[in-house]
Amino acid sequence: MRILSNEALDRIADLVNLGVPFDTLDGKIDLTLEAAHSLPRILHAGGDTTGEHIELTLSRRVHATEIRVLEHHLATDILVEKGRVNGVRALDCENNSIKEFGGRFLILATGGAGQLFKFSTNPEVATGDGIALAFRAGAEIADMEFFQFHPTALRLPGVIPFLISESVRGEGGILRNRDGYRFMPDYAPQAELAPRDVVARSILHEMEKTGADNALLDITHLPPHITATRFPQIYCFCLDQGLDITKQPIPVAPAAHYAIGGVRVNTWGETSITGLFAAGEVACTGAHGANRLASNSLLEVLIFGKRIIEKTGGADKPIAAIPGQDEDIHLSLERRQPPKKKVSPDLLTLQRLLWDKAGIIRDEEGLITAAETLAGWQESLPQPKDRSSYELANLVLAGRLLTEAAILRHESRGAHFRSDFPYTSPEWLKHIVITK
Ligand SMILES: Cc1cc2nc3c(=O)[nH]c(=O)nc-3n(C[C@H](O)[C@H](O)[C@H](O)COP(=O)(O)OP(=O)(O)OC[C@H]3O[C@@H](n4cnc5c(N)ncnc54)[C@H](O)[C@@H]3O)c2cc1C
Repeated sequence: MRILSNEALDRIADLVNLGVPFDTLDGKIDLTLEAAHSLPRILHAGGDTTGEHIELTLSRRVHATEIRVLEHHLATDILVEKGRVNGVRALDCENNSIKEFGGRFLILATGGAGQLFKFSTNPEVATGDGIALAFRAGAEIADMEFFQFHPTALRLPGVIPFLISESVRGEGGILRNRDGYRFMPDYAPQAELAPRDVVARSILHEMEKTGADNALLDITHLPPHITATRFPQIYCFCLDQGLDITKQPIPVAPAAHYAIGGVRVNTWGETSITGLFAAGEVACTGAHGANRLASNSLLEVLIFGKRIIEKTGGADKPIAAIPGQDEDIHLSLERRQPPKKKVSPDLLTLQRLLWDKAGIIRDEEGLITAAETLAGWQESLPQPKDRSSYELANLVLAGRLLTEAAILRHESRGAHFRSDFPYTSPEWLKHIVITK
């Protein structure tokens, strides 16, 4: 956290200098508030299209250089020799051929694993690839049980769970149940701006209580021109679905959003394998604890990305070890008895399984069913041959790592909630680290 706050200003200045057009008010960068924040500190661009503006600005800069970008290639294996990285194997998705690339350093930046769950805000490429590749190569994977669910994704039949940004609540949005009752003050003093896990579980309770499959997020009290200019993407997306959010409340429900755990790295982005680095959502820097604060992830990508550049630039530098933590619990995957009822692996079945058994509210019985099913699939999956089969195998492995860690953690903490262990226990103030 100290690194994040100390280096944030410089890294944001980098983005401004690279040309990211952050929104301004009276000549100064405009800041907004998000859940569990004590001050407005969130920059935005194009209203609610910040990520798109950052990504387009940076990718334009990359394409203007000599950097070789290989589109439609999927990294499938990390090549390791004598304990150090020496390259990567990849599938050319256009003709399903395999290629190998050599290198002294490899930086994993493959993003999250939201495709593990039936409802997710993540893009379809968030299939946990980097976690699976690193695990198979022998790297340490940590904190997998902490998966953050965003409380407010659009829930309309047949429509993707489009994210309704936290800043809608930051700007005054109110959560109501299907009867129109504002319920959040009953659950938390910060009401709609309570931490994400609290809001997500509160919405689930209200959905169960009222028999609805969504709650309602109401911003109809804001002046329509403010809603349309501050949230243009949300406004237009909903309008395309026949929903005018300046006049009607938005049907919302929780969805899987952010993998807090991942490939364990030190403060320089180094993994437990020499030459292998990880940055972004695939990495577990520890900065998010057990419950990521809204909008800290892009900052983490920038700060650790820059640190990795410093570490890998120029001559080969000695690699610092990941600081050993006496309190860590080390786990390796054991064989599990496959469940009696055989279910064949496919993406939708996997997503339903994890949503039902390893989602927002977990218990031992459900988690064990999920772990046994995934263990059975790990043994029965054929050798992958194309993009979707590689991604499915990676999801099965990432899901197994998540469920095994969740079974072991006999408490509730942050994004990990166990109905059979509903309290936080000081004895569990430790990381679960999994290796092959
Ligand atoms: C809807 C939404 C809104 C969000 N809003 C915010 C926010 O406001 N503030 C904030 O801080 N965070 C936010 N987050 C989280 C944040 O955007 C992500 O954590 C962050 O973008 C992850 O960046 P990344 O570079 O790690 O991964 P990504 O941006 O997901 O990039 C990963 C890339 O790796 C590629 N890839 C994956 N597997 C392979 C493979 N095997 N081989 C080759 N390439 C591969 C993918 O195709 C993709 O291009 C949001 C997330 C979502 C989904």
